[in-house]
Amino acid sequence: MYESLMTIVERPPQLFVRGKGSWLWDDSDKCYLDFIQGWAVNCLGHCPKIITEKLQDQSSRLISPSPAFYNEPSIKLAELIVVNSSFDKVFFSNSGAEANEGAIKLARKWGSKHKDGAYEIVTFHNSFHGRTLATMSASGKPQFNDLFEPKVKGFSKAFLNDIESVKRYVNDKTVAVMVEPIQGEAGVIVAENSFMRELRDYTKSHNILLIVDEIQTGVGRTGKMWGYEWAGIEPDIMTLGKMLGGGVPLSALVATDEASCFDYGDQGGTYNGNPLMTAVGLGIIETVISKGFLTNVLESGKTLETGLKNLSKTYDLGEVRGRGLLLAFDLNQDIATKIVKTAFENGLLINAPRPNLLRFMPALNVTRDEITAMLERLEKVLVAVLSDQS
Ligand SMILES: *Cc1c(COP(=O)(O)O)cnc(C)c1O
Repeated sequence: MYESLMTIVERPPQLFVRGKGSWLWDDSDKCYLDFIQGWAVNCLGHCPKIITEKLQDQSSRLISPSPAFYNEPSIKLAELIVVNSSFDKVFFSNSGAEANEGAIKLARKWGSKHKDGAYEIVTFHNSFHGRTLATMSASGKPQFNDLFEPKVKGFSKAFLNDIESVKRYVNDKTVAVMVEPIQGEAGVIVAENSFMRELRDYTKSHNILLIVDEIQTGVGRTGKMWGYEWAGIEPDIMTLGKMLGGGVPLSALVATDEASCFDYGDQGGTYNGNPLMTAVGLGIIETVISKGFLTNVLESGKTLETGLKNLSKTYDLGEVRGRGLLLAFDLNQDIATKIVKTAFENGLLINAPRPNLLRFMPALNVTRDEITAMLERLEKVLVAVLSDQS
């Protein structure tokens, strides 16, 4: 196909040209119902008015004053995140990996200042934290194991929902534990509330920072503003990405006053906190915190969950799990790739993070009618693929 693009992933040949809400069109004008949404990114769907307006308005006034000067949208967005979370300070960046890279740096800095040079971070098997060298090293994705050696040192992998496995890796050199409230890429594995609380108690009593990677769970995805709220805990550091920009490149490293210990020159970046992207982030957060928005996410999530559970029952398939509008459907057999492909042909975009598993990450403002339409299309595809199997 397009020979000048570097090969990184197998893509379908279609060229995508426009989107509106939950719908995406290719250049033959075929229309797709989109439950991938840019990989859990477009929280208000494709090209929502708020983003188009913010981009138009801000781009006509100021795009890049310099990361070393103040600008209004970044200040307002940081304030909004702080007021609506348990944190005090924000550093904006451009991708999830970059935010996590920043979290790792901040933890190491804190270790050098406050914990005798401690630098090790306990992460988890099957976790995903990004594709820079350090974040790949932090990730517990088996496919990363032998890639780009040597890895960045200082990460050990415990098991999610197993506090004893965390304790086994903690020593004098441990500065932080980094965890996803829901392991998205691993197949929507929820960190139990009791585990998150044990983790918080244990790290606090051992003077270790707790970092939550909320790049997939933050900004309303689970039906609460931040995923950590489900466990009623207050972490030391949080990273945001994906939905924070609603489709534009924006991420954030968020921390408590105690954890925010960078000195001048430790952290930065050319585009970091630029007003064009932070103006969009402001529009997103204002929308997600507006009255009734998260209640609606929870209700839509329930509708989708119930529909998927009905399909599971009808066709004798597996578990439906997740929170809010981050849900997975276990098919109990390795047909997920086939289903994704057949669904694509039939104008439905869904994702298979595992050979036996479908993942759903629609826009947070997806309508009940769109959920119903998705379930109808999925059922047709399921019937076709299952009858093909037998
Ligand atoms: C997507 C994701 C990342 C990486 O974000 P990028 O913007 O692709 O760098 C990191 N952590 C989690 C939990 C993610 O879902």
